[in-house]
Amino acid sequence: MITVVFFHAHPDDESLASGGTMARLANDGHRVVLVTATRGEEGEPVPGVLEDGESLGDRRTAELYAAADVLGVARVVFLEYRDSGMADDPANGHPQCFWQADIDEAADRLDAVLAEEEPSLLVVYDPNGGYGHPDHLQVHRVGTRWVERHAAAGGRPVRLRWVTLNRDMIRASLEAAVTVAEEAQVSGDPLWSDDAMLQARRERLESDSYGMPDDQITHGIDVRSVLDRKRSAIRAHASQIPEDSFFLAMPDDAFAASFGREWFVDPDRRRDGRPQVGDPLLP
Ligand SMILES: [Zn+2]
Repeated sequence: MITVVFFHAHPDDESLASGGTMARLANDGHRVVLVTATRGEEGEPVPGVLEDGESLGDRRTAELYAAADVLGVARVVFLEYRDSGMADDPANGHPQCFWQADIDEAADRLDAVLAEEEPSLLVVYDPNGGYGHPDHLQVHRVGTRWVERHAAAGGRPVRLRWVTLNRDMIRASLEAAVTVAEEAQVSGDPLWSDDAMLQARRERLESDSYGMPDDQITHGIDVRSVLDRKRSAIRAHASQIPEDSFFLAMPDDAFAASFGREWFVDPDRRRDGRPQVGDPLLP
């Protein structure tokens, strides 16, 4: 049995990016610890979801505990920074926000947990933070700094993994969706008449600002055996992800095709075009 610490930015990131891997590790008897930098105060709540006087941070904290229970997480820790909001949002300047945090001070807060847990594996985001959100970039920087400091101090080895998005796989499904939409527009199908959605997909197709290309990803973890739990954990984040959302409304087979694998990079073992390392994630 080993201890694996997943370091995420906001409540819901753990379930969307790595929930299946967490559930599989917990199933196998490993200790799974979740550290979350912020309580997601700057998220956009689903209209009408909050009670009178209830703060979004409180709601998202409760949602995170519920999701963690579903996934078999043994311990949840918040680093108690404030959500920085999206890039260029005024919330980026709040003195308590994670984006404004000193990297070493934040690594100290992380160390308070990791010194107790002595993990074998620490999971953070890729260098782009998955898709460039300030708090996700900061998770990468703080986690990386902690590993460097820990190694320099002669601590026992801790392997690092980057959780990422498979850009090539997303691109292939976007291309398919754009083709369907374009053909439907030619035939005048009203279901696909949403030009804004089509345009957003075309723009995303041209963007390289998210995830990593398939040939740089070292681990594709098959999480189909725990997919119902991953989806239940996503569902626990009801203030962010309503029942009619893309994630929850799609048929089971489509969900399995899009979310049945989770993607990780071992930064110490570059792939150099060799076939992807399958299971397991462990050292
Ligand atoms: Zn996030």
